[in-house]
Amino acid sequence: MYGDSIEFLVILIAKHTNLCIENTQAQVSKTYDTQGGKFTVRGMMDCTVDGNVFDVKSASTYAFKKFKDLQDSGNESQFINNDAFAYVDQLDVYSGILHADNAIHPQGWIAVEKQLGHIATPVIESEAAWDRHVPLVDAQMRAPLPPERNAGTDHHLPVADGKSGNMKLPISCSYCDYKRNCWQDANGGRGIRTFLYSNKPVDLVVVSREPKVKELL
Ligand code: SF4
Repeated sequence: MYGDSIEFLVILIAKHTNLCIENTQAQVSKTYDTQGGKFTVRGMMDCTVDGNVFDVKSASTYAFKKFKDLQDSGNESQFINNDAFAYVDQLDVYSGILHADNAIHPQGWIAVEKQLGHIATPVIESEAAWDRHVPLVDAQMRAPLPPERNAGTDHHLPVADGKSGNMKLPISCSYCDYKRNCWQDANGGRGIRTFLYSNKPVDLVVVSREPKVKELL
């Protein structure tokens, strides 16, 4: 709710500048013809700024740093390689719908740090590259078994939980609805074990040293 309010305010303020803000909260969709049939990607873009797609992100201090680093360094590949929530793919889909010419267009984010109100507006170039994932998604949807966790990306590798030797879910999996099915083989076939740390639950896939906190069963 707080995040939604910030995003609404940012667009409202931007509309009172000399920028051309259009397509606010526009529903968009694109249908792909694949070997397995048609499938449609739907979404809602936040806005376009002077004709280019921008997404408004209200971010924690930690998440904001990624956007600020991109703005300051212009290091697109570093951002893309650490894009666990597929923010770039999201823009690519919207951009591909908006610009039918398949040319490279600037696109970016208006990122707002929720705590202190800092704003970053990093921009990257796009050639609607999300479409390159379509054959892989099609093959995965038609596969009789769940796809391999690490197919084509390293966003789904376990990460060390401190120095205990324990391993936890990567952030991209920790929010996923399919994590219990997908990680059935974790902990020697026992599945994900969730422990209630002081600040939040943590999903462990390897427990070398049992945490001294309550386990959620
Ligand atoms: S838990 Fe979800 S995000 Fe992670 S690999 Fe499985 S399906 Fe993908």
